[in-house]
Amino acid sequence: MVDYIVVGLGLAGISFCEQLEKNGKTFRVISDDSQTSSVVAGGMYNPVILKRFTLAWNAKDQLEKAMPFYNLLEEKLKIKVDTKVAVQRRFASIEEQNMWFEASDKPKLNSFLSTNIIKNINKAIDADFGYGEVLGTGRIDTEKLIVTYTNYLLSKEAFKKETFAFDDLKVEDDCVVYKELKARHIVFATGYGLKENPYFSYLPLNGTKGELLTIKAPNLKEENVIKSSVFIIPLSDNLYRIGATYKWKDKTNVPTQESKEELINKLKSFLNCDYEIVSHVAGIRPTVADRRPLVGTHPLHSRLHVLNGFGSRGVMIAPTASETLFNAIENDEPVDSEMDIARFTKKYFNK
Ligand SMILES: Cc1cc2nc3c(=O)[nH]c(=O)nc-3n(C[C@H](O)[C@H](O)[C@H](O)COP(=O)(O)OP(=O)(O)OC[C@H]3O[C@@H](n4cnc5c(N)ncnc54)[C@H](O)[C@@H]3O)c2cc1C
Repeated sequence: MVDYIVVGLGLAGISFCEQLEKNGKTFRVISDDSQTSSVVAGGMYNPVILKRFTLAWNAKDQLEKAMPFYNLLEEKLKIKVDTKVAVQRRFASIEEQNMWFEASDKPKLNSFLSTNIIKNINKAIDADFGYGEVLGTGRIDTEKLIVTYTNYLLSKEAFKKETFAFDDLKVEDDCVVYKELKARHIVFATGYGLKENPYFSYLPLNGTKGELLTIKAPNLKEENVIKSSVFIIPLSDNLYRIGATYKWKDKTNVPTQESKEELINKLKSFLNCDYEIVSHVAGIRPTVADRRPLVGTHPLHSRLHVLNGFGSRGVMIAPTASETLFNAIENDEPVDSEMDIARFTKKYFNK
């Protein structure tokens, strides 16, 4: 008998496992490669929505939890995954510069938006109107984190690579039994894989496909993240990640020619140096109709829980949402009503 079974080891699964370790709970993790969102993610943390110059939902609180969370993980796993890097929003017009100044005057935003207009000095980029800089931003190397965390769990004999077989799950009043495993609770952190879950598939998870290119551009020589019609995210060795697309119909993790062309065309509109495409990846962001996470306990089965719906902001949301779920299960603390799955109970269970 263990305290928990965790299904799924993306950003949600890892952050929940960290809650369990911190609180001395025993657990086993089951995950497969059916979803790729956390592995392919750009990994950016940035509190500002750069289309509209507004603060993302609860961004300040999330960032305050996320930074120590990743830094403690770095210490524990003895790796570096957090790179502090400035995000520079390319302005397309004087109007946009003015909108930026207006936004940077607002009390909630002024600690995140620099009030200087940064002049472009990089000849490989067209940015006649300069940039506005977001403060406190950076990138988590999510792929490295997942690979290292999986190995860490393997070394503790706490991880099994397997597709969860729902037919083998028995749900009882005081525990769950899955094959040879018995646990007090089970947490599903399966990203878009939630759609296959007979207990939670009622939740309105839409899923938004995103694709990214990695390019090699020796003449680009850019150290900041540039946000224009697409992001340019500097990696190392003259490599840059370019993305991402947003598609709502296709729910596969397969990269498409159409999205590749879209990214190339958008890049062409402001990049004027040569590059070669090194890789092309795709994943489904677990997005929800009301743009809020899905956190909580099944309305009819008190041993079944869900941690999902991080949309395009998993890096920042995961540490807060996992702590909320843990405290709800173990300490009976309320889940913030905006992310509590109870907001859908009435509609689907008439309760
Ligand atoms: C192109 C792209 C770019 C992005 N860029 C950013 C970014 O810059 N910053 C940011 O914060 N977020 C970004 N995101 C969003 C971010 O990736 C997600 O919010 C986050 O990764 C979701 O994590 P998750 O753990 O909930 O889901 P996932 O990453 O999908 O993880 C779920 C895990 O569960 C496993 N699983 C599913 N079903 C089963 C099953 N039946 N049995 C066993 N295992 C199962 C999956 O294989 C997977 O390992 C991006 C997403 C995409 C697609």
